[in-house]
Amino acid sequence: MNSSTLNQETKTKNLTTPTKVAIARGDGIGPEIMEATLKILKAAGANIEPHDIELGEQVYLSGNTSGINSDAWDKINETKLILKAPITTPQGSGFKSLNVTLRKSLGLFANVRPVQALSPYVPTHFPKMDVVIIRENEEDLYAGIEHRQTNDVYQCLKLITRPGCERIVRYAFEYAKAYGRKKVTCMVKDNIMKVTDGLFHKVFDEIAVEYPEIKNETQIIDIGSARLAAKPENYDVIVTANLYGDIISDIAAEIGGSVGMCGSANIGKNVAMFEAIHGSAPDISGQGIANPSGLINASISMLAHIGQTSIASQIKNAWLTTLEEGHHPADIYQEGKSTAKVNTQEFADRVISNLGKTPSQLSKSTLEKGSGEIVIPDYVRQPQKKGLVGVDVFVDWQGSNPDEIGDSLSSIESTGLKLKMITNRGVKVYPTGIKETYCTDHWRCRFVGKNSSSIGQKPKYDKVEYENVIALLSKLDHLKFDVIKTENLYEFDGSRGFSLGQGE
Ligand code: NAD
Repeated sequence: MNSSTLNQETKTKNLTTPTKVAIARGDGIGPEIMEATLKILKAAGANIEPHDIELGEQVYLSGNTSGINSDAWDKINETKLILKAPITTPQGSGFKSLNVTLRKSLGLFANVRPVQALSPYVPTHFPKMDVVIIRENEEDLYAGIEHRQTNDVYQCLKLITRPGCERIVRYAFEYAKAYGRKKVTCMVKDNIMKVTDGLFHKVFDEIAVEYPEIKNETQIIDIGSARLAAKPENYDVIVTANLYGDIISDIAAEIGGSVGMCGSANIGKNVAMFEAIHGSAPDISGQGIANPSGLINASISMLAHIGQTSIASQIKNAWLTTLEEGHHPADIYQEGKSTAKVNTQEFADRVISNLGKTPSQLSKSTLEKGSGEIVIPDYVRQPQKKGLVGVDVFVDWQGSNPDEIGDSLSSIESTGLKLKMITNRGVKVYPTGIKETYCTDHWRCRFVGKNSSSIGQKPKYDKVEYENVIALLSKLDHLKFDVIKTENLYEFDGSRGFSLGQGE
């Protein structure tokens, strides 16, 4: 089932059968804030059928290292929708992150975090801020593929894929369309990572043209995050890769003053999970004083996602009205500004009594104008002609003079390959390096086809057979070089599929 049919089905069902939701009550304050949230959803007439699932601390402590048992998986497979309270990850090694397990197992490719300023009820320097950060959730450096390669060098692999980029960028534009947003900003670092971030940027440009009604722009992540921190009101929807998104979504929540108030969504093609961004707050657990707003906001996004946009909007307006009235839980209570310090359930009751009202100061919800419908087409691979043109051989070499290893590798004969250059931490050190360049024990030795040449600045690569690479590796082994790993160099439809070394 794709998301188009999912949405269609959900819409039809909303008229009749309620949408099933797996409810994870979580740990610490989780059960308290979930009770408050479900009470509001029921009072507002949300057409949902909650099904409790067990995950988190108790499941971990029962010996299940992933924190989720098979009954919960079965229920998630049935409902395809999860509302999750925060859980406590037990201290100590050996426990896998439940969130990472859920994200990866269920293909939850998009993390969506709306941050709206609630000034003056929640203090912030940016009262006009209203931004949605859409972060790729599965790839990038978070693939978790890391290796120690030499005495001094450790590596983490950054994986960026075309289907991953297409899905997240398309989701960002569809989100903007579904909720009446005006602009999507892409943030990348493709001035440095021309191949990986370059792909993200390229896909963004390709997809942006399909949405002429939505403005688009691209910023380099460093200046982009600085500008976001200085003038967040200039941003509407931001789409970015996993690590950058992880960082800027926390910056946004922090400067919006709302870490304790934000919800986030993890969206997949068939399954979606909604949760608060804060943790299980064990320090205040059991006291009934936790602020349920993060989970309430998560549930609002969930209702919008399944097409119940008018109920979502109604709850949002009631929640905003409650904040305006000054009925505040302890964490946002301000002496002289708030009118009453309320506990978790009192706050929920106040939101319920405000259902049907709209805020007078804060911007009221526009969710009811949106469709909530987001269609992500299946990825269609466009095969390209792949040709081998060389190999990067990574060598652990304890010497310090690049000319020594360079001259030795240049003299290797009859493998169909020739040494083009050597880099150390990406900087060319052979031939003709600069003696000030600091060298570690990790040498990237680029071999290309014997007849490769350069036309002006542009390299022209000769075709290479894989048996040439094997012959080269065999020679290197014979000569006692410590080869750590190799990366084949390919062209795709004649375009270079690898970056040049700095100074190459
Ligand atoms: P935390 O967010 O639980 O707490 C940080 C501070 O914020 C605490 O002082 C807490 O009392 C306060 N706070 C958090 N939520 C609040 C709320 N709704 N109302 C009032 N005050 C609130 O972060 P932490 O202490 O670093 O983590 C505690 C546990 O939560 C850890 O086991 C961590 O692994 C887990 N955690 C889970 C999730 C999740 O399930 N998505 C996310 C983050 C942390």
